[in-house]
Amino acid sequence: MKISKIVIYQHDLPVKNGPYKMANANVDCLDTTLVKLVSDCGLVGWGETCPVGPTYAPSHGAGARAALMEMAPGLIGQNPSQPQLLHRAMNGLLNGHNYAKAAIDIAAYDLLGKKTGLPICELLGGAATNNVPSYYATAVGPADEIARLAVEKCAEGYPRFQIKIGGRPVDIDIEVIHKVWETVGAKMRLAVDGNRGLTTRDALRLSSECQHIPFVFEQPCDSLEEISAIRQQLSHPVYIDESGVNISTVINAIGLGIADGFSMKVTRIGGLQPMSLFSGICEARNLPHTCDDAWGGDIIAAACVHMGATIKPNLFEGTWLAQPYIEGHYDSNNGIKIKDGHIKLPEGAGLGVVPDEGMFTNEVASF
Ligand SMILES: [Mg+2]
Repeated sequence: MKISKIVIYQHDLPVKNGPYKMANANVDCLDTTLVKLVSDCGLVGWGETCPVGPTYAPSHGAGARAALMEMAPGLIGQNPSQPQLLHRAMNGLLNGHNYAKAAIDIAAYDLLGKKTGLPICELLGGAATNNVPSYYATAVGPADEIARLAVEKCAEGYPRFQIKIGGRPVDIDIEVIHKVWETVGAKMRLAVDGNRGLTTRDALRLSSECQHIPFVFEQPCDSLEEISAIRQQLSHPVYIDESGVNISTVINAIGLGIADGFSMKVTRIGGLQPMSLFSGICEARNLPHTCDDAWGGDIIAAACVHMGATIKPNLFEGTWLAQPYIEGHYDSNNGIKIKDGHIKLPEGAGLGVVPDEGMFTNEVASF
């Protein structure tokens, strides 16, 4: 099988009741990028990548499309059923830009699944479950509102609740964490996510003043260096998110003893092939980790659910999806949805999601 055609689309995904507020970004509308790979045997595979605005990470929608256009001519004729060789080919065409390579990787797995008649989870080693746990991530908000959400999401069946903090006085963040703990206690596993937004001073204070509350502290500060400097003084396990930009930085964080776990996005690390490698490294060191959507629609959501299903259950912290924040679906029959805090593994070959192509009216390039 060979790639005979690559089409790149831009698509807007409005955020429900927006903006969604994080320590370093307000998001009203997502600029997502879709890739259609057509094979010489006539099969079609879909991929997607969707940076959450231009300030969350050093990636943005227009950057993804520029990177895809840079690589696309050199990918015509490549074999999509050999994900590792496809990554080597992409790396030979463009340095970095994992988030763009992820869209090609996902589309190649979709093609490979359709060719073999297997769902992607089987191609990745096999699903441990067909009901993948999710977790709920709040926006940065006031204590009463976040505690109310905690009660609501606990009742819905979410096994884990992530409180977003940062971008405001740390006293308010501490108040929010206390209020959530007083309200739901240990009924859900708790994570507190700084999204790089805290100074080392504020991270130390927060951990000290919440010492009795058993949460994991996700990416409190901007860099591995800042987190490393305070690691021994924190009272909470630390999960690395934004600083885990590739396999090398993940190995580095593990080797330095900074990481008690990871929050990982399939697109940030470059797609399903490197995500599977990452998950294997975590399993070898008994490190819990998530397998997340980096925002986006049904394509990236389906890819994350297939990958999430393969993760060793006692190390799996869940798959976060943008779906609750986004209107509508690409596939009106099999769109990916969270129900009772869990996500049903899609059935069928490849992703198990077939987008209504007519929705994608903004074709950016075709090769
Ligand atoms: Mg995070």
